[in-house]
Formats: sequence, C-alpha cells, structure tokens
Amino acid sequence: MLLTKEEFFKHRIEKVKEISSLFGIMSRYGHAPRYEDRSAQLHCCFLDYHSSGRDTKPSARYYPKGERGDFETYYCWVCTPKPLDVIGFVQRTEDISFGQAIHKLEQFYSIQYEDIDLEKDFDPTLTHTSKIDPKILFRYNEKLLKDNRMFFKLESFKRVCYVLDKIYASYDENNPTITVKRLTEWSKKVQVMLQKGPE
Ligand SMILES: [Zn+2]
Repeated sequence: MLLTKEEFFKHRIEKVKEISSLFGIMSRYGHAPRYEDRSAQLHCCFLDYHSSGRDTKPSARYYPKGERGDFETYYCWVCTPKPLDVIGFVQRTEDISFGQAIHKLEQFYSIQYEDIDLEKDFDPTLTHTSKIDPKILFRYNEKLLKDNRMFFKLESFKRVCYVLDKIYASYDENNPTITVKRLTEWSKKVQVMLQKGPE
C-alpha cells in the first residue's frame, strides 16, 4: 500500500491545519477577533457553555500563531478547558465530531480529493500503452498515483493501490517474460482507473 487509511486521514488533518486559519473561521462564524496579528480580548463565542449564558466582560481571547504556540488558538477562561485550535473551534461551534470538523473545513476551503487532473498530469508520450514496457508503465502509474493521491476518493485510491501492489508482487526480475503479459494487463487496468478517475 502506498498510503493506509490512517495515513490518509493524517494527511487530511495536516492539510486542513496548513490551509485553514482560525482568524478566518472565527470571522466566518461572526466572531471576528479585533486584530489578526496580535491577541485581544473578545466576548466568549460559546454562550451555551458559558456560566449564565452571558459574558458581560469579555472573557475570551484570540491568540495569533506564535503568541501562545505555533498555531492560532482561542481560549475562554470561564468555559474552555483548554485552548482550541481551528479544528476544535469548528467542532465546538457546530457541536460535531473531530472527523466531521475536518470534513467541514475541507468544504470551507474547497480541499478536494475527488478528481485527478489528467489534463495537467497525463504524459502525452504514453498514449500507446500496449507498446510500452510494462515496468515503465508501472513506474509511471505509480508516480501518477502518488502525485495525485490528495485528489482521490479513498475507495478508488485503495483499489488502485491494490492493483499496483499486485503488479509489483507479480513482477519477476529474473524471469520477466513470464510476468510481462500479466503485468501489462494490470497496468492497463490501472491506466483505465486513473483515466476514469474515481467512481
Ligand atoms: Zn466562555
């Protein structure tokens, strides 16, 4: 496998953290902090959790990256047990799970894993696949898959990985002629999957 389900999820979390901004998300939910580049007090964003449902003097604070850690945080010293990062903030605002918050942020920031850009990534020299050395085709497919793994639906991704694993496992360095036929078949299969994209 080029990437396990866990690794893929880890990748999604990293991507979300890299792209999203707590400042932007707070603004989106109508709680724009006063400054983007330094911390400032603000009224608690979670009045349902806050003592009497009211925050008469601002009890919360937004901290830009670098001020309290290497990522932006939100903290209310009345109702927030520990500082929230952007994922935690979305989770609490929407009252959803960690995984759902990741999905929400992917939607907000249009992070997609559903298409691969063949126009951009497809090598035009590889049009006549039947005449190509299967080893080269295999390497090419593997590269294409690796380069585009962020844009695949998980199921399609796993299927293509499985086929690539099969190709790899069936290839015999010492006796290539026996495996060439099978290798070519599998390679073509991958090619079709990559061209069709996810289902
Ligand atoms: Zn609070």
